[in-house]
Amino acid sequence: MLRAIAMKASPHVVVIGAGTLGMCSALNLIEQGARVTIIEAHAIASGSSGRSVGVVGTQFTDALDILLRVHALGHFRRWESRGLKFNHIGYLRLARTAEQMKLFARSVEMQMQAGFTARLYPAGELRELVPHMSTAGLAGGIFGPDNGYLDPYEMCVFLADEVRSRGGEVRQFCKLLGVKRRSGAYTLETGKGALDCDIVINAAGAWAPAVAELFGQTLHVFSERHEAIVIHLDPPLDYTMPMVMDLVNGEGTGLNFRHEKRGELIAEIHKASSTRLEDPDNYNDQCDDASKVKLAELLLERVPELPGARLGRGWAGLYPVTADHRPFVGLIDPSEERLVTAAGAGGYGIQLAPVLGQMAADWALHGGPVSAPGTERLAPTPDRNVRSFAQHS
Ligand SMILES: Cc1cc2nc3c(=O)[nH]c(=O)nc-3n(C[C@H](O)[C@H](O)[C@H](O)COP(=O)(O)OP(=O)(O)OC[C@H]3O[C@@H](n4cnc5c(N)ncnc54)[C@H](O)[C@@H]3O)c2cc1C
Repeated sequence: MLRAIAMKASPHVVVIGAGTLGMCSALNLIEQGARVTIIEAHAIASGSSGRSVGVVGTQFTDALDILLRVHALGHFRRWESRGLKFNHIGYLRLARTAEQMKLFARSVEMQMQAGFTARLYPAGELRELVPHMSTAGLAGGIFGPDNGYLDPYEMCVFLADEVRSRGGEVRQFCKLLGVKRRSGAYTLETGKGALDCDIVINAAGAWAPAVAELFGQTLHVFSERHEAIVIHLDPPLDYTMPMVMDLVNGEGTGLNFRHEKRGELIAEIHKASSTRLEDPDNYNDQCDDASKVKLAELLLERVPELPGARLGRGWAGLYPVTADHRPFVGLIDPSEERLVTAAGAGGYGIQLAPVLGQMAADWALHGGPVSAPGTERLAPTPDRNVRSFAQHS
């Protein structure tokens, strides 16, 4: 049993990938007494994590989403007190129908029970939060004043420092190339030589399927390309733009935007049709001109009179997604009990990383997510670890 392995001594765990999921797994493992080495094919945060817009929010209507964020926010608050910069600009999620407002009302209750702060805003009051907003077509919104964003690159560097200061090791430019099994353990072949370990955490993001394959396992994590664009404002706003999530109901299309600095916003476009799957080693990491036009249109609709708004640089990155759009944390195959997967966090891999890392560490050391009961169902079991026909059509 894995639990027995962990009990006999401090196991050596190798974490594959130095994005947010790998970093958070590593720190949680160290805090539980494991010896940890992170190996990263390139530099820290060089995958999806360094291309994210870093939003952390709790404005969800599903109990599991809230539960995960109770754990995640607990870690963020602790790390904030140790120096991680978290910008509490607030998060406003917009609703277009009365039905959606009812769900938001339920979310306010669930969030209050969870210890978060949130309140409903009818359409007529939304301009208190965003004076430039057009409320046409809106029923209202839900607002969490404590939500906000952080710089995901800074988060990874902060966590790497925490890992190193507690005796962990981060090996950059050290790609996993092959796996040999020893009795009850692995020898990993890397670009920088062989590495023996007891347990592996696969936190390789969009590359997690390729890593799983080295262990003879099949993992269905798909790469979706998403784009972000900087918006310059001249003159700057005289208020702080909160994170605004403006999605068309049920379609997942629309946009979000938030404060980045004085005179600068960052926006992200959501396209239901953007589910063409990408090769993580060969995708266009720049923003398309057509997307910039679309973004300008959507932005003009929602905030028509932003002063001197001008589109700036854009970029694209990958959401590592699963068929049911829930992350994978756990074992793919119970007979491969020393390989724990922590991947597939989609568009939430920054905000969920602290709890997913906590769960991954628990799986590695205790055989299940003991400190986050109710999250066992995020394991990549055969019913979840499937190809998504919708995405492939
Ligand atoms: C435009 C955009 C905006 C986003 N906005 C948000 C947001 O606001 N909030 C939010 O929560 N999430 C957001 N996301 C999603 C978030 O960025 C991802 O879910 C998250 O970064 C995934 O982290 P990860 O650690 O799983 O993967 P990654 O960050 O990709 O890390 C995986 C690492 O594994 C390494 N690796 C791969 N193969 C190997 C190997 N063989 N050996 C060693 N290392 C290997 C890679 O080099 C990579 O560094 C956004 C994403 C994009 C693209």
